[in-house]
Amino acid sequence: MINDVMYARGAESSKIREIFSYGLERKAQIGADKVFDYSLGNPSVPAPDAVRASIERSLELPAEQLHGYTPAPGLPEARAAVAASLNRRFGTSYTKGDVFMTVGAAASVSMSIHAITTPGEEVIVIAPYFPEYAVWIEKAGAACVEVLADQETFQVDPAAVAAAITPRTAAVIIDSPNNPTGAVYAAETLEALAAVLRQANEGREQPIFLISDEPYREIVYGAEVPWVPSIYEHTIVCYSYSKSLSLPGERVGWVLVPNTCSLADRVMPAIAGAARTLGFVCAPALFQRVVADCVDEPSDVEAYARNRTVLTQALSEYGYTYVEPDGAFYLWVKALEDDAEAFCERAKAYELLPVPSNSFGVTGWFRLGYCIDYDVIVNSLPAWKQLAEEYRV
Ligand code: PLP
Repeated sequence: MINDVMYARGAESSKIREIFSYGLERKAQIGADKVFDYSLGNPSVPAPDAVRASIERSLELPAEQLHGYTPAPGLPEARAAVAASLNRRFGTSYTKGDVFMTVGAAASVSMSIHAITTPGEEVIVIAPYFPEYAVWIEKAGAACVEVLADQETFQVDPAAVAAAITPRTAAVIIDSPNNPTGAVYAAETLEALAAVLRQANEGREQPIFLISDEPYREIVYGAEVPWVPSIYEHTIVCYSYSKSLSLPGERVGWVLVPNTCSLADRVMPAIAGAARTLGFVCAPALFQRVVADCVDEPSDVEAYARNRTVLTQALSEYGYTYVEPDGAFYLWVKALEDDAEAFCERAKAYELLPVPSNSFGVTGWFRLGYCIDYDVIVNSLPAWKQLAEEYRV
């Protein structure tokens, strides 16, 4: 029998993809330069030259190495390179045994959820949140519990998390630098969250795990991104090179189960079991080699910083209210009417394609992905101005 849940997930497609497809159609109708598509998180910055050089070196390898399966947790050299890089940056003492190579952050997070929850348990997400979390939590048979971020700062709100914890809470997912708000969680906020979790852990057989989803760690505008396992020991870190090295289509990342994590000796095999159960087999061999070679390659954030400046200055001049983004490449803007979906429909008349906040679990806001060409942003500014003026009359 066809699985109704799978059917529904496939048939509905995400709102972000729906807007992106609409944008492609519209571009074909009226010309690509006339449509201002802010929907996707596809990096506009090219991958660094070091990535190409690494691929070219790999092409010289014997065929069975070049395209062959790797061990399920990944190539030892890639895992060792990741552990060594983290140790250099955060003063930790990880080994390759703490790292499991994955098919991007989507796989890292979905595997982690499956590894540490059982059906009927609860996973807390901080709203607004990356929409796929709810899909993966549902697939694991757990319940997705939404907790609002602080509405002033968009930091995680430790008191609100405390109020949502029940005996069934298995994990909390955080995402900093945040998609969709651009907030970077401060060390003090994470310490307060850790205190809440430690208190909730008293008397429990298994601690509440923190899943720290960090695909935007490198994309910051001067902010420090604290190393979460140093603040809360039961943290699983999920990472990918989709954004930092602009490789979203190549599908490579990792999960780190730090050796300081309680029950690490059970969590890591459960991560491997989740990868197996979900059919991931292994991360792409060629790009695991790229990771081994390019693990310390800096991200080029200059173009995003320039986009951020031009967009925020103009929108603020036109009277829009937004969250000042400290990281990632999204701007979280208050819709000019309560119904964000209706606002985004009106924006379409100006060929502006934002994503309404309903997709992220809250109402009244919209997201702009500014990982697009600078000229598209500049050319869209008169349209943003006219849209704001339409709401003033
Ligand atoms: N987590 C967050 C917060 C994201 O924004 C994304 C992608 O946009 C992902 C996970 C998935 O990333 P990946 O392409 O590495 O699977």
